[in-house]
This record gives sequence, C-alpha cells and structure tokens, in this order.
Amino acid sequence: MLDIQKIREDFPILSREVNGKPLIYFDNAATSQTPQVVIDAIVDYYSNYNANIHRGVHTLSQEATDAYEEARLKIQRHFNAKEAHEIIFTSGTTHSINLVANGFASFLNKGDEVIVSALEHHSNIVPWQMLCERTGAHLKVIPINQEGELLMDVFDNLLSSKTKLVFVNHISNALGTINPIEEIIQKTHKVGAVILIDGAQACPHIKPDVQALDVDFYVASAHKICGPTGVGMLYGKQEWLNKLPPYQGGGEMIKEVTFEKTTYADLPHKFEAGTPNIAGGIAFGAALDYMNAIGFDVIAKYEKELLDFGTEQLLAIDGLKIYGTSRQKTSVISFNITGIHPYDIGTIIDKLGIAVRTGHHCAQPIMDFYKIPGTVRASFAFYNTKEEIVKLAEAVKRAQQMLS
Ligand SMILES: *Cc1c(COP(=O)(O)O)cnc(C)c1O
Repeated sequence: MLDIQKIREDFPILSREVNGKPLIYFDNAATSQTPQVVIDAIVDYYSNYNANIHRGVHTLSQEATDAYEEARLKIQRHFNAKEAHEIIFTSGTTHSINLVANGFASFLNKGDEVIVSALEHHSNIVPWQMLCERTGAHLKVIPINQEGELLMDVFDNLLSSKTKLVFVNHISNALGTINPIEEIIQKTHKVGAVILIDGAQACPHIKPDVQALDVDFYVASAHKICGPTGVGMLYGKQEWLNKLPPYQGGGEMIKEVTFEKTTYADLPHKFEAGTPNIAGGIAFGAALDYMNAIGFDVIAKYEKELLDFGTEQLLAIDGLKIYGTSRQKTSVISFNITGIHPYDIGTIIDKLGIAVRTGHHCAQPIMDFYKIPGTVRASFAFYNTKEEIVKLAEAVKRAQQMLS
C-alpha cells in the first residue's frame, strides 16, 4: 500500500499554488516531478564535490568519478544489464536514439528496410528518416487500429530478410498503449534484424529487464522517472556497442590521439565524448533508488486504479471521447470534447491550477490517423490522487460550459 500523503511530501513542488489554486500536476508523460532526495543529490554534488571526472588525481575528482560510476551501476542493476559498460550516459532518449541511428548508417545499404510503428514519438521517427535518406534504406510503418494498438499481423507481413532494424516504443506517450514488445523482439530476431525499444514512457511505470527481453538497445530519459532533465541512458548489447562507430569525437572518448590516427576508448567511454552532466547522472541514480524503494509493482497497481477511476470520471462527461483504449495501457488519458479545441480546454483548466498537455504530443502521425488536430492529455503518476481527478473532471465540465 502507498501512503500517498507521505509520498506527496517528498515533492516540494506539489505544495505550490498555480493561479491561486493548489497545483494539480497531470503532465507526467511530458516530465515527472522531482523528489527532494533527487534535488539534494544535485545540491550535494555542487556544494561538496563538484569536479571533472575520470581525469584528476585529486580528491574531489575521485569522489565525483566514484559517485558517477556508482550511478551507472545503479542503472545497470535497475535494467538488469549484464555489464556496467553496456550502459551509456546520454542527454536523454532523443540523444540515445540519434546515437544508434547514426551508428547504423555504416551498416545499411540501398534497399534495406527499417520498420517503425505508427505510435512513435517524433524522436523515434525523424532520426530513422534521416538514416534512410542517407543510406537509401526504406522506412516501413506498423499501422494501428482504432483502439491505438499495433496491427501485429501487418507487422508479420512487413518483416522479411530485407528488414535490418526495428524501432518501437514500449509505451506510447500520446495514447498510453503498452506494446507487446516481447513478441516484437522475438519476431525481429527471427529475421535476423536488430531492435531498439524506446522506453521513455515505460520506465516511470515498469521496470524493464533488458536481458530477459533479449533486446538489442533500450533507451530512456531520467526526467520522466523523477530524475533531472538533460540526462538519460542507452543500453546496448556489448556486441553491438563494440560494432557501432562513435557518435561524437572529443575528450573522454579516446585512447590515444595523434594527427595521423586516433584510437577510441573502450566502452562505455567511446560514446561519452566531452564532460557529461555529472550532477544529472548522479541524480538519475538517486531517482532510481527513490522509485525502487517505493516499488514498481506498487506503483503500477495504484496507477491502474487512477487510470480506471479517471476513465470513468471523464467518460461521464457528455461528448467526451477518449483516444487510445487499448486493454494494455498505462495511466495516460488522451481526450477531446466534440466541438471544442483541446488548447481551449487546457487554457481554461490551467486557470484552475490543473496542468495537462494539449496538442499533438510529438506524435503527429497518430493525430493524423484519428483526423484530429490534437488532444488534451492527462497523465497520472503515483503521487496523484483520486481527489485531483475529481477536480479535473469538474474543471473540464466547467470549460465545456464556458466554451459551448
Ligand atoms: C519523452 C519521450 C521521448 C523523448 O524524450 P527526451 O527526454 O525529450 O529526449 C521519446 N519517446 C517517448 C515515447 C517519450 O515519451
């Protein structure tokens, strides 16, 4: 059982007011809020041992290096990677995906095929389009049904010996659909292709086991898992990380540099050019500790309750339609009300202290599929309450009355 009131006290921002009303934060799919222990980890770093890592022999540098590498171990344990050097620190999901897409440019040939899903975030579409343009490979798309679920029989037909890469998100940020990634990974491997799973939206709700999944690449951002912005991770199987060329050149990623030839550092440093977000990496580790202390089973169970309750409350409103009704979904509710632009609802309920996201949620192809300009998206986290959801439903009703 979760003691929600106690958990809410861990998050300083949850006690602030917005427009004279207590903040109700339902934009968790865009970024999560930050508990005091994570804020403390950042403050502690800058207050007590701020130094560059992996270089200095002095005490501060060693302390910083130890804390940063300890964070890498926490991430390794969290995702159950076999080796610590299979975890690469990045600036976030977008960076992780670009790193892999760029690396595959040297392995793809004209006529090869790359498969993405119709549920992807722009950051899991555009880098692959750029890769296809560079290499002459073709981009294929797994379509969805009205519920917002991937059409797996079409996926079966898309797969062939021409398929080289498959990219799918674990959970859709726009609709909340949980994709059957175990099946997708197995089928991808059967045709000898490589798979990357975008876990940005899954990691706040699920603890993935990269070895059990047998996934080639798995990526996530700290800021959606109670960590800071500007830091994330790339898990890659060692064999693939060794094969991929470095993404950026610079300090930290080299063994030896002469003007004739440079040799690259071993994993993970080969992919970590330049001074990283040291405080961010350490705070990422603190965020995982915080979430694991609560427990992902407990979190998932409570969020399912919030999802069911929120769905019921919102569907009681006349003319309200929910987009994304997969039976396997997480605590994201994307909706519209007949005749009202999502932006107008978002603006009015912000006056009542409620933060939701409106628009295409970086997933325009999904909006095109439903032939809508966007949705209002309320996304719940484990620190939200049913009372807040009741207030959301009341606020949406009020907006509806004002706008119609
Ligand atoms: C948020 C998100 C991203 C992008 O993450 P950044 O931290 O902005 O790089 C990618 N994919 C999904 C599914 C997301 O939810």
